[in-house]
Amino acid sequence: MGNEGIVISIFINDFAQKKKKLNFKEKKQMQFRVLSIVFVVSMMWACTSSKKENKATPQPIGIVIHGGAGTILRKNMTPEKEAAYRKVLAEAVQVGYEILKKGGSSKEAVEKTIHVMEDSPLFNAGKGAVLNSDETIELDASFMNGATLDAGAISGVRTIKNPISAAIQVMENSPHVMLSGKGADVFASEQGLEIVAPEYFFTERRIQALKRVKESEQKKKETTATEQAFLKNQRYGTVGCVALDQNGNLAAGTSTGGMTNKKWNRIGDAPIIGAGTYANNATCAISATGWGEFFIRSVVAHDISALMEYKGLSIQEASRIVIHEKVASLGGDGGIVGIDNQGNIAMEMNTPGMYRAHVDNNGKQTVKIYKDE
Ligand code: ASP
Repeated sequence: MGNEGIVISIFINDFAQKKKKLNFKEKKQMQFRVLSIVFVVSMMWACTSSKKENKATPQPIGIVIHGGAGTILRKNMTPEKEAAYRKVLAEAVQVGYEILKKGGSSKEAVEKTIHVMEDSPLFNAGKGAVLNSDETIELDASFMNGATLDAGAISGVRTIKNPISAAIQVMENSPHVMLSGKGADVFASEQGLEIVAPEYFFTERRIQALKRVKESEQKKKETTATEQAFLKNQRYGTVGCVALDQNGNLAAGTSTGGMTNKKWNRIGDAPIIGAGTYANNATCAISATGWGEFFIRSVVAHDISALMEYKGLSIQEASRIVIHEKVASLGGDGGIVGIDNQGNIAMEMNTPGMYRAHVDNNGKQTVKIYKDE
């Protein structure tokens, strides 16, 4: 019995005991008091149960991440390597989900989730990023807020430990949307972000990968299919995250080292708002990964949102069309993760695999690598 029930029963008992001794006027007063109390108690009751009802149907939340798409095949994977990828993906997506569950913003969830992957040497973002042709590392990242359509991006930075945070700072603390090169590094340091020596990002695996790509380039030899797959894979490992928070706000972020052996300060799709990253509360949040040049030309992330907004397509159908028809018909490959404003998700790819994970509104976590999972 709730508090209201206890109050009523005490009062009725009391009333029953006194009832016999009361005169007519006192009885009327007592009746009036009982009716008033019943009225107040029923109002309290109504409020409590409507609150309970709200708790039972809160706004849906959800989060989806990727760690790059490509020729990811079981036969090239060791059990240890696969377990290591699954572990970091699970950890990263859970960090964001816990933030959302506590009522945190989609912005915070995206930022903190991407930090986990940027700090892991497994992915081509932050530590473990791929090398340029001149053996340097240049990082790109972008972020978009679906509630305001504010966005920020950085490209070609060399000293920012967590490039996704720099993209968010550009959005929040500069009058611009995109900063590049040295200026972006200086800006991030002025904002108090963690700055590291360029060597921090280097890993043996990526140094060897650059060597192999260069050797095959020099020899100009006909590479075997396996070698081609290996070389293609050298660009993969970009990370991205999309989230929907309890206030119905969407956010998307993407962070990458770009493509192995890139030259001339090449910039891919990851820091381009509308290509690698897009978020709009009216539709969805998207983060892309793949062969950047094709994703820029197909304006992938915005095109998915536009198909939903102007054609009323679902996020799955819009993503399928853009990845399998538009990007593929140009000869590009890769994938996206997306979430719409109702919490429906898409994890679409035209490659054999994409590192990806999701936590749904009920807290159920899914981690996948291969396309056929
Ligand atoms: N899209 C990235 C780029 O072209 C690479 C990737 O996602 O793997 O820079």
